[in-house]
Amino acid sequence: MDIPLSITRKTAFAALATALLAFTNAQAQEVPKPPKMAPEMTEFWEPEPRVVTPGATNTAAPSDAIVLFDGKNLSEWKAKNGGGEAAWQVKNGEFTVGKGDIATKREFQDFQLHIEWSAPDEVKGNSQGRGNSGIFLQDRYEVQVLDSYNNRTYSNGQAASIYKQHRPLVNAMRKPTEWNVYDIIYTAPRFKEDGTVFTPARVTVLHNGVLVQHNVEIKGPTEYIGLPEYKAHGKAPISLQDHGNPVSYRNIWIREL
Ligand code: MG
Repeated sequence: MDIPLSITRKTAFAALATALLAFTNAQAQEVPKPPKMAPEMTEFWEPEPRVVTPGATNTAAPSDAIVLFDGKNLSEWKAKNGGGEAAWQVKNGEFTVGKGDIATKREFQDFQLHIEWSAPDEVKGNSQGRGNSGIFLQDRYEVQVLDSYNNRTYSNGQAASIYKQHRPLVNAMRKPTEWNVYDIIYTAPRFKEDGTVFTPARVTVLHNGVLVQHNVEIKGPTEYIGLPEYKAHGKAPISLQDHGNPVSYRNIWIREL
């Protein structure tokens, strides 16, 4: 009499196990796998900033500015990695992107930065491959430098975007043979004692005198893939990106606020 009961129990357990397995499999099939992170996930193409033709003036340094480049040498700059000499070539009052990123020797918090740049005269490459460089505020937050003259790319990656965070309000780009100007007003983030954000960084950018970023909130350090996340930091340099394209810079000055 025991045997049939045992068989019945075994059968019941087997049935339960089978049912559980089927349920688990069904659950496993219903839970979507997290998507694989890809750069395209943070590239937003619409809307496209409309084109605005800027006026003609640039600006010389005011009396209280720290001049970071006056056309003569890179004495205010160093190699970002290793801290050796900034090896980019200075010629005719400007310097051109060379091997490796460079950074200022000085460190900054809140500031007004004036910087002039020119895309390579020879128009080469497309989208992110044409005249790409970048200005990293506090070595982390990129104001994109790109030849965005007749060169469509994702809107939050074109010239004067806060890369992959904010598209510029308009496209105020000058031709590759002409100089562009950024005037950047930057407020550094503040952190609590436990390292979390107290106030995020904010930035205003004028591109050739045209407002393109209006006191926008920076969401964290610039990321090519995935979403930004703040990490506490103090004063830090301005750094310039070597993205493999011969972008030139001139007339760089900063006012600490
Ligand atoms: Mg760049």
